[in-house]
Amino acid sequence: MSLKIFDRMESEVRGYIRSFPVLFTRAKGAQLWDEEGTRYIDFFSGAGTLNYGHNHPALKEAVLEYVESDGLVHGLDMATTAKKEFLETFGRLILNPRAMKYKVQFTGPTGTNAVEAALKLARQIKGRSNIVSFTNGFHGVTGGSLAATGNAKFRDASGVALGNVTFMPYDGYLGDNINTIEYIERMLSDSSSGVDKPAAVIVETVQGEGGVNVAGHRWLRDLEQLCRRHDMLLIVDDIQAGCGRTGTFFSFEPSGIKPDIVTLSKSLSGYGLPMALVLMNPELDVWSPGAHNGTFRGNNLAFATAKQAIQSFWSSDDFGREVTRKGKMIEMWLQHIVESYPEGQFSARGRGMMQGLVSEDPELTARIAAEVFANGVVIETSGSRDEVLKILAPLVIDEDLLRKGLDVIEQSIVSVLGVKRVQPDKIRVVNFARGTR
Ligand code: PLP
Repeated sequence: MSLKIFDRMESEVRGYIRSFPVLFTRAKGAQLWDEEGTRYIDFFSGAGTLNYGHNHPALKEAVLEYVESDGLVHGLDMATTAKKEFLETFGRLILNPRAMKYKVQFTGPTGTNAVEAALKLARQIKGRSNIVSFTNGFHGVTGGSLAATGNAKFRDASGVALGNVTFMPYDGYLGDNINTIEYIERMLSDSSSGVDKPAAVIVETVQGEGGVNVAGHRWLRDLEQLCRRHDMLLIVDDIQAGCGRTGTFFSFEPSGIKPDIVTLSKSLSGYGLPMALVLMNPELDVWSPGAHNGTFRGNNLAFATAKQAIQSFWSSDDFGREVTRKGKMIEMWLQHIVESYPEGQFSARGRGMMQGLVSEDPELTARIAAEVFANGVVIETSGSRDEVLKILAPLVIDEDLLRKGLDVIEQSIVSVLGVKRVQPDKIRVVNFARGTR
């Protein structure tokens, strides 16, 4: 196996290849294979882009059919059949059943493009530059999104001052007993707090890159009220937590909040094809024609697979229930791991199929992640210090494979920490049947 060409030709900026130093050749569902035929279970899902797995047959067929029909692949923002059919399907199966009246803006195809557009729009509407973002928030690495991203590693690479964003403490950031909404309320109400009146608040309901931190439903509702009181727009960045990851199409559904603006990307096309959207309440659509553009706003192949993904997975509530059930399995397994080790060694957090095993020692997390990969499971770490082992399997993974992947993680933890530190009576006793009730 040789990765020499990547060392020789590709920039030092490359990242995941360092965590997974093999040459991948093929992928199907929740599995990948390298050039030597070694099989890996996918607990990474392209950082949340492959909720429906690799090369899902229904989506692959949509690609092949579309290509075979000589449909437009590149369409800027022109009207095409693929875009029309996506909009019809998205309206019929996603927006209408949820009584959402959002208008849809197709932006450049990556998540950060959608965030840039959302922030720009909010600033235009309110005529104010400041935006509230949260500690550990991650919204992308281009100028505006990066300014709203907390992690110093990304911010330091910018080379220019990042401004017009005020960071506030996310739910739980100041400990379990401090309601951070009260703190934010105080900062915004006091004209001497030094915080310029914001145009909007941007928030992830579960912080994916920031360490699988979960905002409580109540906290989100309080945040929405706070936005209303202070005339700020509420932007939910659902790029990672959306498209079913937490058990509902939009991650904020269980909280009952009604964001003014929503960003979606990652698993929207369902096939790993780049596509991003901004959803906005109709009265917020103050764009003048062409005021925000981008050459790749019309990835029609992605529209074709996105339409098919919505049809295949979101025509009923069954898929969401399946995600919730598997999420419970993962949650129970995490609980078992936490309880198997001395108190304080590990903790667990997450929602749906977006879960994390947290160690206060990032070095330990790194060693476990490397061991997990060596044992055949692709997994990444997240959090400000990479202290969280992030379990992000494709939502379609079958339960046996999910169990197998969790077993690999457990064995890897045992081999990194040594069995001595494990309470032996607690190893491998998870009753998954209970978790699937
Ligand atoms: N917003 C969130 C919540 C994300 O998780 C990410 C990427 O991980 C982005 C925005 C940026 O998306 P992209 O990397 O496609 O620009």
